[in-house]
Amino acid sequence: MDTGVFDRIESEVQSYARNFPVLFSKAKGSYLYDEAGEAYLDFLAGAGTLNYGHNNPVLKEKLVAYLSEDYIVHGLDMHTVAKRNFLAMFEEVILKPRKLEYIMQFTGPTGTNAVEASLKIARNIKGRENIISFTNGFHGVSLGSLAVTGNSHHRGVAGVSMPGATVMPYDGYLGNGFDTTELIDKMLSDSSSGIDHPAAVIVETVQGEGGINAASFDWLRNLEKVCRKHDMLLIVDDIQAGCGRTGSFFSFDEVGITPDIVTLSKSLSGYGLPFAVVLMKPELDQWKPGEHNGTFRGHNPAFVTATAALDHFWRDNTFATEIKKKADIITDRFREMANKYDDHWFHLNGRGMMQGLVCTDGELAHQITQEAFKRNMVIETSGADDQVIKTLCPLTISEEELQRGMDILAESVDTVMKDRVKQQNRHGKVSVVA
Ligand SMILES: *Cc1c(COP(=O)(O)O)cnc(C)c1O
Repeated sequence: MDTGVFDRIESEVQSYARNFPVLFSKAKGSYLYDEAGEAYLDFLAGAGTLNYGHNNPVLKEKLVAYLSEDYIVHGLDMHTVAKRNFLAMFEEVILKPRKLEYIMQFTGPTGTNAVEASLKIARNIKGRENIISFTNGFHGVSLGSLAVTGNSHHRGVAGVSMPGATVMPYDGYLGNGFDTTELIDKMLSDSSSGIDHPAAVIVETVQGEGGINAASFDWLRNLEKVCRKHDMLLIVDDIQAGCGRTGSFFSFDEVGITPDIVTLSKSLSGYGLPFAVVLMKPELDQWKPGEHNGTFRGHNPAFVTATAALDHFWRDNTFATEIKKKADIITDRFREMANKYDDHWFHLNGRGMMQGLVCTDGELAHQITQEAFKRNMVIETSGADDQVIKTLCPLTISEEELQRGMDILAESVDTVMKDRVKQQNRHGKVSVVA
């Protein structure tokens, strides 16, 4: 395996590569393959970008046909057949059945560019600068998105001050039984609280990079009420939690809220092709032509695979039902792992197929994911201290593969915990539940 060139000329900024030092070559479904053909079960799946698995054959067939017939790959934002088909499919399969009336804006193809656009919309519509964001929220690393992101590791390298945002405690941050939307309401109702009237609130319904924290439906509904009461737009960043990850196309489908703006990216193309959109209520579409510009706004091959994904997976409830079944398996297996040990070691969080095994510290989580990697499984951590082991396996994973992955995780937990418990016993505490 010759990988010297990565050390010689690739920037130190590489991150995932450090935890999985293998030369990957091919991928199919739920598996990555290295150059020698060794298979790795993929529970990272592009950090939520490959919800339909690697090289999904249904999507690939459409993409290959599109390319081989010399359809347009790059057309700036001009009308193309591929774009028409995508818009029409999105309208038919996603918007109409939900009675949602959104205008769709194609931004640059990264999540963070969709977030930047959403913040511009809110600020320009409301004529105010401040945006409320949340503890442990993650919205991307360009400056506007970074200003509403909690992570100090990312914020620390901005090199400029990042004004225009006020951070508030996310659901559960102050313990159960404390509804943090009451705090927001109280502070916004007090003209001397020191908070400038915000244009919008930006929120993830389940925080991906921030530790798989799932907001309760009540909290999200209360947050929407606070937005209405104080004339703020509600922006749901559904870049990671959307496209089926939580069990429905939008993560808020079953919540009973209607965001003013929604951002989508990651799994939207379905094939791992870069693609991002902003959905906004029609009255918010006050853009002048080209105001939020970009060379790669709406990439035609991504339109093709995204259209195929909507057509294949989202016309009825079959896929959503499958996701829920697999989500239950994940919960059951995580609970089994956690229940073997004293309460303080592990607990569970998340929703749908976006779940986390929260470890007592980041070192423990790291050891477990490294142990899983020794067993040919790729799985990552998230959270402030990287203490949460997160399942982001393809939603299309077979039940057998899912069980295999959970077996590997259970073995990895036990292997690492044997040493941890030994250490503790030396200090006179017994930690295994009999
Ligand atoms: C990944 C992510 C982003 C940023 O997307 P990029 O494509 O990495 O710029 C924004 N918001 C959320 C919730 C994400 O998970």
